[in-house]
Amino acid sequence: MTSLVEVYRRWPTKDDCIAHLEAVRWGEQPLCPYCGADRVSRNRDAKRGLTASRWKCQRCDRSFSVTVGTIFHNSHIDLQRWFSLISLMLNAKKGLSAMQAARDLDMRRPTVWSMMHRIRSALADDGKLLAGIVEMDEAYVDGKRRPANRKDDDQPGPRGPCGKQPVIGAVERGGRLKAMVIDKAEMTADDIRNYVTGMIDLPRAVLTTDEYAGYNGLNKNIAHRRINHSRVYVERDLFSAEFGPIQTNTIESVWAILKRAIAGQFHHVSRKYLPLYLSEVTYRYNARRTGEAFDRLLHLATNP
Ligand SMILES: [Zn+2]
Repeated sequence: MTSLVEVYRRWPTKDDCIAHLEAVRWGEQPLCPYCGADRVSRNRDAKRGLTASRWKCQRCDRSFSVTVGTIFHNSHIDLQRWFSLISLMLNAKKGLSAMQAARDLDMRRPTVWSMMHRIRSALADDGKLLAGIVEMDEAYVDGKRRPANRKDDDQPGPRGPCGKQPVIGAVERGGRLKAMVIDKAEMTADDIRNYVTGMIDLPRAVLTTDEYAGYNGLNKNIAHRRINHSRVYVERDLFSAEFGPIQTNTIESVWAILKRAIAGQFHHVSRKYLPLYLSEVTYRYNARRTGEAFDRLLHLATNP
């Protein structure tokens, strides 16, 4: 994972950052972000000669830099600060508060807060379905409570307490994670089937869930094993030699990471922003064993 020290070593100047972003976004051939033309040339500056950062399109005659149309555009923040913040976020296993990042980067908290949200907004899912041994579960995480709801907080809902926001996730054992915020308070069996088909490659996966009634009937669509948590947390069956024990410990450890990040770092996560925090936690989880998380993030950020 690219550390803060590495950011300053590899890209010591603003121009180095721009050159790297150009390479990640365009490779060999820069394209005009306004009209898509490849007939572009570096801007000429009468005093400085060729300038590193600006390009001119021969077709539409507009001038642009590599940040046009990306999360870095119009931010008045230099790219080195952006790279540093991305590095801090990717390396913060338990999440990073805007307050802490502001202290680390010597910037104002509101500025850093909005930069962090821009970064999170770039973290799109890779679109590849999960396969192999997959665990699926829902969780209820703290949303920001409105005062009007406060008296409902302690009353248990249909599944999980009120005032909390439901999320659903699926994870390959030893592999990738997908998670999303659920729009409704309660899910029907159809909703769950849609989440399953949206996240999992049905013929190539064995699914493990708990005994929640919403998962009833899934075995028509996918090989499905269930664990009865009121009885036991890990179970073995005839298929355990091949598919491992029946348990949902992997997805539950993901929920522990998410809840810890919300309680300890993110604070006051509103319904509106919860998907962004979830994207961040998911991205970091999926990047945990690759060395490409930093450049992949830059690629996502520059190819919206
Ligand atoms: Zn153009």
